[in-house]
Amino acid sequence: LSLAKTTAESRAEPREVVIVSGQLERGPVRTTHADVLLASVGERGVLCDFYDEEGSNTYRDLIQDADGTPEAREFATRVGPVPGPVLELAAGTGRLTFPFLELGWEVTALELSAPVVDGFRMRLAEAPADLRDRCTVVQADMSAFSVDRRFGAAVISSGSVNELDEAGRQGLYASVREHLEPGGKFLLSLALSEVAESQPPERRQELPGQSGRLYVLHVSVQPAEETQDITIYPADETADPFVVCTHRRRLVPADRIVRELLRAGFDVIARTPFASGASGRAGHEDMLLVEAVKQEGAIPAA
Ligand code: SAM
Repeated sequence: LSLAKTTAESRAEPREVVIVSGQLERGPVRTTHADVLLASVGERGVLCDFYDEEGSNTYRDLIQDADGTPEAREFATRVGPVPGPVLELAAGTGRLTFPFLELGWEVTALELSAPVVDGFRMRLAEAPADLRDRCTVVQADMSAFSVDRRFGAAVISSGSVNELDEAGRQGLYASVREHLEPGGKFLLSLALSEVAESQPPERRQELPGQSGRLYVLHVSVQPAEETQDITIYPADETADPFVVCTHRRRLVPADRIVRELLRAGFDVIARTPFASGASGRAGHEDMLLVEAVKQEGAIPAA
């Protein structure tokens, strides 16, 4: 991975930018379902990744206003009352960042995808000045980043760790270690239900976007590979262009992430199940909040 860094600017104009080549450059995955759809719509078909330029309209329409407040509160409970600057990895368009800022935190939000960063900045521009001034945006690959400051806490939400393969996760742990203050915490929310064997092999559901457009979400699981193929497309079969967004995610069990953290030189000091509210089942504990601290002086195993 190449890594070129520009100088940090003032917090009032938060434009600290690290440009990195990363996973998104590989282009969209041609899922089996996307293949079938594209064959049937002919020239109207456009294939894109959910997080790339073409997919960004769909991403914003479906995700922009998703509320991460219950999950953000769970992180806040664990970080404690005076967190100092907090690093949020793979921040997306700020589902958790905005609740963090509302709690009074100072946040450095790191995200790889340029269109997703643009969406984040648009939201930030509309936020009250008090929130804006406490947020720094960094465009970088979370598996190999270098930011010119240290943090009392680093957080990563459910789903985001699963964006990385094993080598990427090792890079993430090493980068986080380098950016934590002594005694700083690394907190991860991990989905408990997202284990490949426990998922139906295929499911389909309709999703309304903020614009009023209706989408179809198709998910297929490959248990042997521990991956999940996501295909999102318009419910309106006559749409022109017919934008088919795909994304392949891993489904890494939470206990494996915990073992990896230990090998990477962290002590896992707490594992707390909590209800994110995303399942729609009140009180259903679908997530695990993992709290890790650096083993000071430890040399991580290769
Ligand atoms: N944290 C947000 C949330 O909870 O809503 C976004 C989660 S979304 C499942 C995953 C995010 O990870 C996307 O915004 C994607 O662009 C970003 N991403 C994927 N690979 C990345 C990488 N290597 N470095 C930084 N961000 C990455």
